[in-house]
Amino acid sequence: MKIRVLGCSGGIGAGLRTTSILIDNDILIDCGSGVGDLTMDEMASIRHIFITHAHLDHIAFIPFLVDSAFNTLVTNPITIHIQQETLSMLRDYIFNWKIWPDFSRLPDEINPVINYNVITPGQQIKLNNRIIEPVSVTHTQPALGYRIQSPDGGSFAFSGDTKNTDEFWRVLNSYPELNILFVECSYPDQEVNLGEIAGHHRPSTLAEDLAKLKHQPDLYIVHMKPGDEQSIMNQLNELLQNRAPKMLQHGQVFDI
Ligand SMILES: [Zn+2]
Ligand SMILES: [Zn+2]
Repeated sequence: MKIRVLGCSGGIGAGLRTTSILIDNDILIDCGSGVGDLTMDEMASIRHIFITHAHLDHIAFIPFLVDSAFNTLVTNPITIHIQQETLSMLRDYIFNWKIWPDFSRLPDEINPVINYNVITPGQQIKLNNRIIEPVSVTHTQPALGYRIQSPDGGSFAFSGDTKNTDEFWRVLNSYPELNILFVECSYPDQEVNLGEIAGHHRPSTLAEDLAKLKHQPDLYIVHMKPGDEQSIMNQLNELLQNRAPKMLQHGQVFDI
């Protein structure tokens, strides 16, 4: 199973893309601005999008993707796997015929280019022997992380956006191993209030949470605010010497 990082920044700017991870060539986890780098053929190959939550940096390119690939999606629709609360926000505020057309009714209601599949934490979705498991995390709105298992048994997990949380770590610990972990750390430690209000990790809170994890995966940090990357990584390297955290870069590819 191939994992290709299309975007993993907490913002935009030259060389930065917001959250999107491509699994093999057909599954997306989140649909941030990284999707804009795909070719038309690559876009047309996407069959499933799993959404962590409704914040714009994670969903902004769904409208462009379904519009750009519309002609191929008419015969081969995309399924968006999404929590009910997140789906309601997407319907009310994005696909509402004002900001963007409702592509779950286009070209017609019988055969739309988008189908929604409402998911709940703990449910396992199996797609060609890859298992995708949504897990609750703690953000400013209902939000999911994901644990994804390859047909060969290797696994990786992605926290999505979260601050201190328990269920995510409990679920990861319930499996015998974890090879790769992408986890968010949005702000440096000076931003105590911002981290709490915005529902994001700082190096100290992430260190507290990683103490709950029994596995020693390859650890990659995501969703850092542009300009703060170096100070966040310096603080993390101090706090997490035993885990050797690395900064994830868009364009990186992993095989598990
Ligand atoms: Zn968020
Ligand atoms: Zn975000």
